[in-house]
Amino acid sequence: MIEIYAVGGYNQVGKNCTAIKVDNEVVITDMGIDLESYIKLTEDEDIVKINPEQLIDVGAVPNVSVLDKIKNNVKGIVISHAHLDHLGAVPHIANRFNCEVIGTPFTIEVLKSILKDDKIKLNNELKVLNSNSFYNLSDNIRIELIHITHSIPQAALVAIHTRYGVVLYANDFKIDLYPTLGKTPNLKRLREISKENVIALIVESTYANDARKMPSESVAKEMLKDVLLGTDNKNNLIIVTTFASQIARLKSVIEFGKKLNRKVVFMGRSLAKYVKAAENIGIVNFSKDIEIVKYGRQIERKLKKIDNEREKYLLVVTGHQGEHKSVLHRIAKGELRFKLYHEDNVIFSCKTIPTPTNIANREALENELKQNGVRIFKDIHQSGHAAREDLRDFINIVKPRNIIPAHGNKEMKEALADLAIEMGYKKEKNIFLLKDGQKVTI
Ligand SMILES: [Zn+2]
Repeated sequence: MIEIYAVGGYNQVGKNCTAIKVDNEVVITDMGIDLESYIKLTEDEDIVKINPEQLIDVGAVPNVSVLDKIKNNVKGIVISHAHLDHLGAVPHIANRFNCEVIGTPFTIEVLKSILKDDKIKLNNELKVLNSNSFYNLSDNIRIELIHITHSIPQAALVAIHTRYGVVLYANDFKIDLYPTLGKTPNLKRLREISKENVIALIVESTYANDARKMPSESVAKEMLKDVLLGTDNKNNLIIVTTFASQIARLKSVIEFGKKLNRKVVFMGRSLAKYVKAAENIGIVNFSKDIEIVKYGRQIERKLKKIDNEREKYLLVVTGHQGEHKSVLHRIAKGELRFKLYHEDNVIFSCKTIPTPTNIANREALENELKQNGVRIFKDIHQSGHAAREDLRDFINIVKPRNIIPAHGNKEMKEALADLAIEMGYKKEKNIFLLKDGQKVTI
């Protein structure tokens, strides 16, 4: 018998966590945080001192107490990729389970650096598993990571092989046949798996209502090229800001920085952290081409130097959501003793994540920039999430018997159910809409 527990991420986008019970044994896929409530709680406190119960109470991490009765049966925690809404709760609650934490090399490398930064010690062993390979969790459960494209290196789909068939966990992905870093999705393997009886597909629904195919990362690269090489910026400073974990995008920025004959400097702690993780596992070597400046003082000193020859630099900084501690926010506020001039360029290679805090922060930041006459380029970006037509192709390839929409609120999950109905599935019969804390027996 297979039971699927919706632990987190089924009421909202964030704090993803699912448990799959196969007879008496359990696999947990993902253990993420809800960034907004997490930041609210941790802003003024030392993270180490916050106890997990408190994090659960404010909704910052998944409420794993729904698994209390079966917690001794958990055989492994598999992390699909290194985004914090999938990985970020591991340091706080993985200790409750006596098992390994498994992920691709980049995912585990990021986890290690979070543990080190936050001075947290985990009892769980960390197990690196390459994409497109298997691992026997027990005699009855075999785990497979299948390479997929997303907006972070080495994202994987998790296939859980059981005697009843395969449970496929597909959070997060898009089908990108033209990635700018790393391989194309392993569709060949997905076609094979479809013949092995996929009894359940747990799949993201965030953009299920968006009637298009999500454009490739190579399209985002063209957009960046158009803005960087196609505007008159030769006398001005150029600043780009994007997600620190978007290594492929950062690679494109460096490429165009070179074309512009500019020195590229990365500024900010989270940029340094993700780039270092990517370099440690050998997928990029940015350090040979660029300078990375991590801390406030160093950044201040570097900016002072840059000020005399601003037109020779391209800066990549943290702060795309207008976060208050970020480098961009502090530059805009004049806190780093550095001024932006009329017609300097600020390129937002991202979208604003639509939470009230982010919307307000970004608006304030943009107002600040406009007062200095800065040129703002917004939304130079493509998402890493599957839209409706990626999802349709994906479901057609995988041919699951049952579909469980995940990674979204009610409307998003219903939009995916809608698509599934279009494709011949039926609600309650083989489409199951779960809320956090609920489970379904397949
Ligand atoms: Zn993600």
